Amino acid sequence: MKKIGFIGTGLMGRGMARSLIRKGHTVRIYNRTRAKAEEVAQLGGTVADTPADAVRDADVIVTMLADPAALLGVVEGEHGILAGLRPGTVLIDSSTVSPPTTLRVLELLTTSGADMLDAPVFGSKNEAEKGELGFIVGGSREVLARVQDVLDCMGRTNYVGANGMGAYAKLVVNLVVAGTLQVFNEGMVLAAKSGIDAEKMLEIILSSRARSGIIEMKAPQILKRDFSAFFPLQLMAKDMRLVLESAVALGLQLPAATALSGFYGECLAAGLANEDFAATIKPLEKQASLEVKAKEAS
Ligand code: NAP
Repeated sequence: MKKIGFIGTGLMGRGMARSLIRKGHTVRIYNRTRAKAEEVAQLGGTVADTPADAVRDADVIVTMLADPAALLGVVEGEHGILAGLRPGTVLIDSSTVSPPTTLRVLELLTTSGADMLDAPVFGSKNEAEKGELGFIVGGSREVLARVQDVLDCMGRTNYVGANGMGAYAKLVVNLVVAGTLQVFNEGMVLAAKSGIDAEKMLEIILSSRARSGIIEMKAPQILKRDFSAFFPLQLMAKDMRLVLESAVALGLQLPAATALSGFYGECLAAGLANEDFAATIKPLEKQASLEVKAKEAS
């Protein structure tokens, strides 16, 4: 069993840390809002006052933070990870951040004699709680082998290549997810405006080649008008911004990603930041003066 410093017990980190505690690891938790760390620690971990304090004795560090600024602040800020890090420790960063952020953290850690994997996840808070996330891992295979037992407690691993590739692969997955949901939403609004029953339209989509995992997951939420956050819209807006940054850095033009990022900006301006990203249907519905919903939700 390992000593783990866990940083960031938000929607996802909460379940991940609890999975590690349940499997018998010694977990020391830091979260900016202390109450969330205390709640997780009720299962058996201890609470740290700072990131440095959380990682001082750790064999492995797991970070699950909102965005690049949060990760860099936790790593190199005052009382950050670098202030407590000991050589030989492995940092597993599961936040969705830009590849340059990942490489910056790698550089900072290796200078201190530590190692790092980018290991962003797919799955949502329910999978985090059950230890059934999917990790997309970038970094050295040798480093991965040293922490495979830790990752196994939280889900399954898909190794993609060198550091930074995990971060890129995660952004690609989210571009496909956001794009699929966007065209689903637009199609459902078009169907509703033409008079087609929402449940009938969904049944037809799910029985066709248009069927997809994200539609199967989000359509029931939309039809029940439940937009409580599994994946907050503001985080997907961040990911679309990071996709565009990556495209620019690689000299690519991505027309659908550009349009998506602009539309997510409109959703943020409409006050939807903290709702689930399925709420991207709301501005479309407003324009059409209707709601896409099941009969029983009327
Ligand atoms: P969340 O609930 O918003 O949690 C974000 C975490 O980051 C919290 O612990 C938060 O602390 C911390 N944080 C934010 N800004 C900070 C700062 N400036 N300094 C220190 N800590 C800061 O988000 P989440 O859903 O758990 O997502 C975490 C990461 O996983 C994100 O990168 C997201 O894109 C990715 N992800 C999420 C999902 C999902 O379904 N939710 C799925 C796959 C990947 P406080 O508690 O103090 O706010």
